[in-house]
Amino acid sequence: MLTAMLDDTMNTIRTVIRDTRPTLKRQETGTVLQVGGGIARVSGLASVASEELVRFPDGVLGVAINLEPDVVGIMLLGDSDRLNAGIRVTATGRETDAPVGDSLLGRVIDATGRVLDGGKPIDIHERRPIERPAPEIIERSPVTTPLETGIKAIDALIPVGRGQRELILGDRQTGKTSVAIDTIINQRGKGVACVYCAVGQRATSVAKVVETLRQHRALEHTLVVVASDDDPPGLRYITPYAATTMAEYFMEQGRDALIVYDDLTRHARAYRELSLLLRRPPGREAYPGDIFFIHSRLLERSTHLRPEFGGGSLTALPIVETQAQDISAYIPTNLISITDGQLYLSPTLFQKGLLPAIHVGKSVSRVGGKTQHPSLRAVASDLRLAYSQFEELETFARFSTRLDKETRATIERGRRVREVLKQTEHHPLRASEQAGILSAVNAGLLDDLPVDRVAEAEQCVQQALVAKLPELCDRMDRGEKLHKEQWEKIHGVIRQALAGMQPREGSPG
Ligand code: ATP
Ligand code: MG
Repeated sequence: MLTAMLDDTMNTIRTVIRDTRPTLKRQETGTVLQVGGGIARVSGLASVASEELVRFPDGVLGVAINLEPDVVGIMLLGDSDRLNAGIRVTATGRETDAPVGDSLLGRVIDATGRVLDGGKPIDIHERRPIERPAPEIIERSPVTTPLETGIKAIDALIPVGRGQRELILGDRQTGKTSVAIDTIINQRGKGVACVYCAVGQRATSVAKVVETLRQHRALEHTLVVVASDDDPPGLRYITPYAATTMAEYFMEQGRDALIVYDDLTRHARAYRELSLLLRRPPGREAYPGDIFFIHSRLLERSTHLRPEFGGGSLTALPIVETQAQDISAYIPTNLISITDGQLYLSPTLFQKGLLPAIHVGKSVSRVGGKTQHPSLRAVASDLRLAYSQFEELETFARFSTRLDKETRATIERGRRVREVLKQTEHHPLRASEQAGILSAVNAGLLDDLPVDRVAEAEQCVQQALVAKLPELCDRMDRGEKLHKEQWEKIHGVIRQALAGMQPREGSPG
């Protein structure tokens, strides 16, 4: 009897022991050996993973990036002022991640989701890893739809398609940011979610961009992700990856998204800073050996997905700064080889006031041509030819006063093309507005007009077309192809509009 009772009790104890799961989670802690320059060297985190998030006592986060047998190199994502040797570090067991969702649009945040615009906290329902594999080749589809920038020189001559990666490069202060911002502004009402990722810029420059977007009602469809120049290099380094994760969310929902990286020169410098502090071997220009990979794995994530995979797209406009117009420097050549084309902004054109300062000869779009609006394609080839012939002749013409009639005509036409390609910032144009004036200059309708009246003529032409041929304008904007008769109708209206221009005082007419 007693034995039976004992047996019962023992069985119950055994069941309890078997079914009880320990609720304790193993949490590894380490000790800081050294902090400085945005890096901490930590001992005791023997099983921490690469890219794992770690936490310092007052909430500062870090990412483990250098795993050595006894010491782990951590890049800090926050202020290191209150960190010192001897404090404890906890491994979180979490990959570095970023918030995603529609609620982010219209906001200014950092890579970890911290609100920087002084607004209310953001409702975050989901976080995704900042490093994600790029879509497989089988998931990708050719680029088929244009991404309209609203800038005549780009949409007509160097068109960009949705899902393309087009590099914007140029020296300091040549209008790189301006081209990207105008493109974002032009997406208003077009259903393209935009992400502007600012890396290593001064906070005042970023504030200016945010203000411009707000003024042009473009902030509603844009998310701004910022790591400014006084943030630690670790945060500057991870920000583009986090911003890409945020943009991919829209692509993966089958929508179209656009991401601007402003700029990747500063991103590369942040990575160089980290690598040197971590004592990785320096290579060319002191950049570490994997500098190509940090940009290729970032830009490979932009693509156009096949319909079976949702059909969404992510277009990337990475910006890179050149020094003394050297586009063959290390980082620019890397990026040129990764992207599907480049827009080169020339300081010489900028100084001459030819804005936007896009150098047509040095710019190229490797995939966008197939997506161009038919109305713009109809004018593009003649325009490019007229312009390149003119560029060649202009230099030569300076040395010679006696030019034959044909050369003079090419130069006069070229001058007008150049004038038509000028555009003020933050003033994007619809496809019909662009096609109208460009086809007018192609057809020689502006040849008799003084060059300094071309801008005025453009206004007249645009107003006349909208007033008299609204239906044809709609067709052009929708991307329909126009017949010869329809073009003739357009030219008729343009001729009338130009004839009706007020003669300037003191001029014969
Ligand atoms: P940074 O190297 O400092 O980043 P950036 O190359 O991005 O400069 P922006 O800041 O875009 O250049 O432009 C430089 C200046 O040129 C700005 O003051 C801007 O307002 C002006 N600018 C750029 N494009 C145009 C344009 N199309 N029309 C008039 N002004 C322009
Ligand atoms: Mg800029």
